[in-house]
Amino acid sequence: MAKHVLKQVKSGAKDILNRSLDRHVRLAVTGLSRAGKTAFITSLVDHLLQGPVQHQLPLWQVAREGRFLGAQRMPQVNFHVPSFDYDNAKKALKAPQPFWPESTQGVSEIRLKLKYQPKSVLWRNINHSAEMTLDIVDYPGEWLLDLPLLSLDYLSWSEQIVASLEQNGRAQLAQSWLNSGAQLDPFAPADEALLNDIVLQYTDYLHASKDTLGLHHIQPGRFVLPGELKGAPVLAFFPFVWLQNTPQEELKKAGKDSNFALLNARFEYYKKHVVKQFYQQHFVKFDRQIVLLDCLTPLNEGKQSFVDMQTAINQILQSFHYGRSSLMKRLFSPAIDKLVFAATKADHVTPDQHENLLTLMSNLVCEGQKQVAFSGIETHSLALAAVKTSQAGHVDFQGQAHPALTARQSSDGESVSLFPGEVPAHLPNDDFWQGQGFEFVDFLPPIQTSADSLTPLPHIRLDLALEHLLGDKLL
Ligand code: GDP
Repeated sequence: MAKHVLKQVKSGAKDILNRSLDRHVRLAVTGLSRAGKTAFITSLVDHLLQGPVQHQLPLWQVAREGRFLGAQRMPQVNFHVPSFDYDNAKKALKAPQPFWPESTQGVSEIRLKLKYQPKSVLWRNINHSAEMTLDIVDYPGEWLLDLPLLSLDYLSWSEQIVASLEQNGRAQLAQSWLNSGAQLDPFAPADEALLNDIVLQYTDYLHASKDTLGLHHIQPGRFVLPGELKGAPVLAFFPFVWLQNTPQEELKKAGKDSNFALLNARFEYYKKHVVKQFYQQHFVKFDRQIVLLDCLTPLNEGKQSFVDMQTAINQILQSFHYGRSSLMKRLFSPAIDKLVFAATKADHVTPDQHENLLTLMSNLVCEGQKQVAFSGIETHSLALAAVKTSQAGHVDFQGQAHPALTARQSSDGESVSLFPGEVPAHLPNDDFWQGQGFEFVDFLPPIQTSADSLTPLPHIRLDLALEHLLGDKLL
């Protein structure tokens, strides 16, 4: 037992030393659900583990210069954090009939050791090779949507939800929850079974907002992606939106064993033990962050989904505003010094549209990015595909060659050649939505021949993402 503890202490001390020598990087990967986090991490790890010979990462300086010597998986030291399921994700993507792995549901991590040759001659004389420990941490962007809750009490949060119900047809979707909650007597003794019923309806409403309306701005974020908290009482509350029936002053006086008091207590517990704890346990330890954005799906889904995604992303970026007066700085001491924005699934559009995709994403995050940069964090943007599923080419239409993509569509696995449309370079206006010139279908991961399965997954600019995130650490 003592030996085991000593070993852990030693490994902890080594961790701190490596971090101070910049030899340990905690790289966080986030984005709203289905942005492509799982695909990104799987492809990244796959490429790194292939080592220096097979690599296809020419835009990553250390690899291009032949200084990348390889990577190895290492046991993770945070025993309480679930492991990123790399093996199954890789199996799925490299199966004879490849399929997409299961998406991110909660926080998870994977540790690698990278070996490289330092660039500086002085360093190289002291040490032929150097090592860097890389922790990659995956977590849902939805969890960052809860940050504003920390400065709200239960009733002010409920008031905000009342206002949000008026937007995007949410109230209609929430009808059954709103009707059941209206029957609840806030002053009656707490009735767990009744509250649980209403919680289920509230959670169903949040899922429907996501799935039916394509909305992302959902609070509390853990209700749709609970991670290890699934079924826990801390998630058994809902906003008290029936405020026109009962004056707030009276609600505040509700007895401590009442329905209202229990809902209030659970909200406060959620803030302290779920929201705050995530920032304290995980967020403050991140060194580098990549935020993945799928701009194409909301373009497909329509104006409401697109505008809502923009709101959600700007909300997420609040967590990276460390200005002196910001909530973040007052509560935590984050360490992230570089933030990369990546527009994912670039393989869904023809190469001539990549520039537009990048500009569209830059416009989408523009306000948030300015504030992040003002906080002293270096930012970069790029458009990438973690797994390139399509081949770009041309098709002949009425005697003219037009850019097109060939890929296997998800619906039936058939190979199709199509032009998905032009990506607007600017935030789309009403003309765009009325014209709706953009439509893409989901693609399956590419089938690799047996020889190919040993080589890494095809990608677009994954290496540029690596360069932005880690390039300066491997000089
Ligand atoms: P997560 O929720 O952020 O973990 O998202 P996933 O990584 O599970 O991706 C969600 C879905 O997006 C996948 O099932 C794929 O359909 C699609 N996807 C993700 N990455 C790519 C990519 O690089 N190219 C293409 N064509 N589709 C992708």
